[in-house]
Amino acid sequence: MNKHPKKEQTFVAIKPDGIERGLVGEIISRFERVGLKLVAMKMIVVDEHQVEKHYTLDPEWRRITGEKTIAGYLSKGLKPPLEDPLAITAIILENLKKYMTSGPVLAMVWEGAHAVAIVRKLVGGTEPLVSDVGSIRGDFVLDSYTMSDADGRSVRNLVHASGSVAEAEKEINLWFKAEEIINYRLVAEEILYDVNLDGILE
Ligand code: ADP
Ligand code: MG
Repeated sequence: MNKHPKKEQTFVAIKPDGIERGLVGEIISRFERVGLKLVAMKMIVVDEHQVEKHYTLDPEWRRITGEKTIAGYLSKGLKPPLEDPLAITAIILENLKKYMTSGPVLAMVWEGAHAVAIVRKLVGGTEPLVSDVGSIRGDFVLDSYTMSDADGRSVRNLVHASGSVAEAEKEINLWFKAEEIINYRLVAEEILYDVNLDGILE
């Protein structure tokens, strides 16, 4: 049987810069206030092996991320540093290992209707320079590919969020044991999802 849409889960990690910037509460509150439910959370220091596993769970990630980076340069009338998407991603991955192991990471699972898409919308696009105003990356950080590539580092964008439902399932599996994910009811779920609103008026 298919799961009810309100059971969709997504993996979110506040990256070391989000923790250093003191934005943990701010970031979490954005997911809370939209109506999502926090079902797992832990603070950890990861090793490079975990970072590589995480980013290569999707066999297409290397190609897509390289192409996205090239498109980011071209859309601003700039020349990408390399022509080959895979060569670009090889550098991005090495820089990501340094970035993600530089301090603690707050790993979380959020649950609710369209959790994956809603969280991506709230997080905003990868490159903070062009992330939408109102999104976490748009509101709280000012980095760009031009700056991060020139300095040979990852673009610092505060938070990771799964890009698709399939990616979310793999990422949750990688970061959490089944027993670390809590099954519980939020009172607010009644007003978010119940068909009948009987019992509000007294
Ligand atoms: P997202 O985190 O938005 O899903 P990707 O999966 O494409 O983005 O990339 C993973 C992470 O790698 C990004 O969040 C960012 O920290 C880093 N990154 C991606 N592209 C670049 C780039 N061109 N230069 C520097 N860092 C990058
Ligand atoms: Mg991604």
